[in-house]
Amino acid sequence: AQDTMLYLDGVSVAFDGFKALNNLSIIVRPAEMLAIIGPNGAGKTTMMDIITGKTRPDAGDVYFDGRTDLTRLDEAAIANLGIGRKFQKPTVFESQTVWDNLEMALKKPRGIFRTLFYSASGEDIARIEDILDTVRLADRRDDLAADLSHGQKQWLEIGMLLAQDPKLLLVDEPVAGMTDAETVETARLLKEIAETRSVVVVEHDMSFVRDLATRVVCLAEGSVLAEGTLDQVSANPIVIERYLGR
Ligand code: ADP
Repeated sequence: AQDTMLYLDGVSVAFDGFKALNNLSIIVRPAEMLAIIGPNGAGKTTMMDIITGKTRPDAGDVYFDGRTDLTRLDEAAIANLGIGRKFQKPTVFESQTVWDNLEMALKKPRGIFRTLFYSASGEDIARIEDILDTVRLADRRDDLAADLSHGQKQWLEIGMLLAQDPKLLLVDEPVAGMTDAETVETARLLKEIAETRSVVVVEHDMSFVRDLATRVVCLAEGSVLAEGTLDQVSANPIVIERYLGR
């Protein structure tokens, strides 16, 4: 449907008989941020792997952008449809400037000849400047990526994903290792991104999830245990009984 960016419909996957995902159904709307929480082993990473085509489900379907069934596509085709994934560890080009990292990310999908003879058009320059503002790096554009803080490298990598213009951004524990100030700023910038794109954030840091102020799904044993606001999820009797030990 028009109002659905991502729909996992009854997805199951087992590893050596162990059900990592068990009939998992999740919907992400256009321009919506969804936070995924849950204990270790709940299936959060496996869910991301299913969406990006790294892992194939044993059962269930994954629909993207209204209709495309992702379970029939390989990882590269899925990325090209407009799904960007940020892993926990930043992978920026340390010996390049912030600007050049973004420019390379912008060029990537254009093919070898465009890349060899490329010089940034006015439109591309405007886009990079826009991304620099979004990821709070406008004043670091000429600095080497190596000279950024850990948090700023995470932001640069988010910027590199934005350069690919994804419809859906998957973000795995973005604030791990960040300062408190960087963590607060990361919540702000992800909220800004989610004004125009769908964003799924997997996160352990509950104060950060609170800052995101968005819909939360709590996974456990490969399916949805509770969903709603963070307050609703943390007030859920099953969540309290099983994960808060009361
Ligand atoms: P989370 O990200 O919520 O911590 P995971 O998705 O990483 O959970 O893992 C869910 C379960 O599936 C875990 O018990 C994990 O050991 C198992 N698992 C995940 N990927 C594999 C794999 N490739 N092979 C075998 N077991 C796996």
